[in-house]
Amino acid sequence: MATTDVNHSDTQLDWQERAVCKGQTQLFFARKAERPEARARREKKAGRLCSVCPVQTECREYGRRNHLYGFWGGESEEERHRAGYSLTAPIGVPRGLADRSEAAAS
Ligand code: SF4
Repeated sequence: MATTDVNHSDTQLDWQERAVCKGQTQLFFARKAERPEARARREKKAGRLCSVCPVQTECREYGRRNHLYGFWGGESEEERHRAGYSLTAPIGVPRGLADRSEAAAS
């Protein structure tokens, strides 16, 4: 995940050194007021990078475990949410899906 531009934590993770997306943060995080069509195009490009990245599994697990925003390991916020790894305040998840998941969890 664009490791040179994102401060993931206080320690650098080894797998991030092998990320193919270094320096391309703009593909992995939504701009302010990004429209759904633009998000879909951006995430498609991000997904192409992830599909050839040697650390996709580590990256996806990191995104899931830490409930992160953005596109991690070939997975969008919505896909992560559907897999059971919800964000505190999801912005890339359709309102109805977030509501259903919250109701199911309570
Ligand atoms: S899997 Fe995708 S987001 Fe993760 S490090 Fe690789 S290219 Fe970046």
